[in-house]
Amino acid sequence: MYAPTLFGYQRRETIPVSIGDLMLGSDFPIRIQSMTTVDTMDTVGSIEQSIRMIDAGCELVRITAPSVKEAQNLENIRKGLRAKGYKTPLVADIHFTPNAAELAARIVEKVRINPGNYADKKRFETIEYSESSYQAELERIRDKFLPLVKICKEYGTAMRIGTNHGSLSDRILSRYGDTPLGMVESALEFLRICEDEKYFNIVLSMKASNTQVMVEAYRLLSKKLADGQFKAYPLHLGVTEAGEGEDGRIKSAVGIGTLLEDGLGDTVRVSLTEDPEFEIPVAKDLVNRYVGRNRPNAPIPSLSNLSAGFDSPINPFAHTRRKSAELMNFGGHQVPRVIADYSHLKSISMEDLKSIGHFYLPEPDKWAMNDLGADYLFTGTSDLDFMLPNGLKQIQSATTWLQSSPSEHQFPLFEVEDWLKASKKHAQLNFVQADAEEIWSNDLFVNALKLAQNEVLVLSSSFSNRMAAIRRAFFELEIQGIHIPVVIRLNYQDIHADQFQLFAPTDAGALFIDGFGDGLMLSLAGLPVQSSLENSTNFGILQACRVRISKTEYISCPSCGRTLFDLQETTARIRQVTDHLKGVKIGIMGCIVNGPGEMADADYGYVGIGKDKIALYRGQEVVKKSVPADSAVDELIQLIKEDGIWKDPQETNN
Ligand code: SF4
Repeated sequence: MYAPTLFGYQRRETIPVSIGDLMLGSDFPIRIQSMTTVDTMDTVGSIEQSIRMIDAGCELVRITAPSVKEAQNLENIRKGLRAKGYKTPLVADIHFTPNAAELAARIVEKVRINPGNYADKKRFETIEYSESSYQAELERIRDKFLPLVKICKEYGTAMRIGTNHGSLSDRILSRYGDTPLGMVESALEFLRICEDEKYFNIVLSMKASNTQVMVEAYRLLSKKLADGQFKAYPLHLGVTEAGEGEDGRIKSAVGIGTLLEDGLGDTVRVSLTEDPEFEIPVAKDLVNRYVGRNRPNAPIPSLSNLSAGFDSPINPFAHTRRKSAELMNFGGHQVPRVIADYSHLKSISMEDLKSIGHFYLPEPDKWAMNDLGADYLFTGTSDLDFMLPNGLKQIQSATTWLQSSPSEHQFPLFEVEDWLKASKKHAQLNFVQADAEEIWSNDLFVNALKLAQNEVLVLSSSFSNRMAAIRRAFFELEIQGIHIPVVIRLNYQDIHADQFQLFAPTDAGALFIDGFGDGLMLSLAGLPVQSSLENSTNFGILQACRVRISKTEYISCPSCGRTLFDLQETTARIRQVTDHLKGVKIGIMGCIVNGPGEMADADYGYVGIGKDKIALYRGQEVVKKSVPADSAVDELIQLIKEDGIWKDPQETNN
């Protein structure tokens, strides 16, 4: 398999890699890193920004070196930092320019190369290769890459072979397609050359902005390395172009957190369209969760104890949703449902529903709903003294439901014991709340679930390692042939809101990426009812896992020394005018060199091509070549209008 265990936590064992004085790999803490955004030729600016990053906890500082002159200037930046007492290793980020890499490798502690563009210019062409012409291509790569390997070996410089989903070479695309396997093979082509030279000081990464693709590629890489042909190299984790703010944090946590849960990852870079020092606390929160987790999680039984020979019920290398029966709007082909948990409130007012996307408008006396309107409201033992809007149904504790005269739109949530003995149930839809452990230990309950017709299981876990426990329960449901819909319920306490926005996407995201879950119900103890945090995190996780799209998606690069416009300001401007276009993916890239490839997943692209000059893309195709920056946002809107996708904001609010 790709991970040491699926039902506990164990860090994947790796060889050690030395980056200057910094050691990386499974014997060492998971390292935090980031990348500067100022021009590499701005020596003072680069030093000052690096210091802000290091002071925030950054253990490796990456700086772009697009050409030889920037590579040379790394020496001044390095000297400046050392003169101020900062010994943090530096990494040169290279695309397209072997001569810059060969120079940088003599100056800094590590060089990152992108195997998609180190030896190839992208032409977006499909080329038919025979076996011999493919081999000839590999020889050409070897000739271009070998000098760098030799220099790294001589100078003790480390290297990251960092694949990006969006910048695979035409050769790889022609043979493997735009797939996780293509991403892995892209790195392995270069890795073989390193190993032939007995150069092993290497870290690998498989980044994508699509979290499913990213997780699958890392898993596949880990499996390929474990198959024995290669050494167990450390992994650098990251989601590219995660965006900014809440969306960027949730998306990063889904991708990075899912892999960390499986014990994969030795260094982490969170890519946000924000100043790099803001990435560091996010990375720290993600990583620190695993400090001290390296002990067996005894209570979760392994699969083999229960059913020897049973194969994994999921394909960890290709997202497939668990097959579940369709029950009302749960399961089957329905999107995963969002359940808001108000069970802690003694009384609930109409006003309180604003934070879950439902608004009462007294003037026309009707309800309105935004794109993040929850589907169900769990009210626990509380009563409501008003009618819920049509789009929102009520779930009550079964004890309350049984004592009242519920309407057909009110549904009971049973505890396991109460459900097993219940003489009265809803004719169409009942919820049963169970701890994951019940699924592998309570035979009576499992046998009753096999016969259940009108039930949705609400699965939670009291284990500290809750993702692994719930995953184990899902595996058991498959073993037992139980296909009822399942809502994942995660309650958090004693953590702050920033951590909630990372831990919930890690736990729930890992399950949805595996294809599990027909609904999501999150809560954080102590939040005021006016807070929309739980609701937006519910929807944010589903969007980041690509299982329910409810808003516009921005694939914006974090910016670097190549950036040609103010990314943060431009992203905010584009977001302001397009954030009502549900489901549309807009790439916002700071430069032409790497931008179009990196936003491979976007429907539209806004890419810097020169000072105050923007290129607009439809998918991978440039449709407006050189638009003045002042009018580029208007031109982007025009382009979306031409495609018939544009809606005025008021249309979408109704
Ligand atoms: S797309 Fe953005 S982060 Fe990537 S190289 Fe260009 S400016 Fe830098």
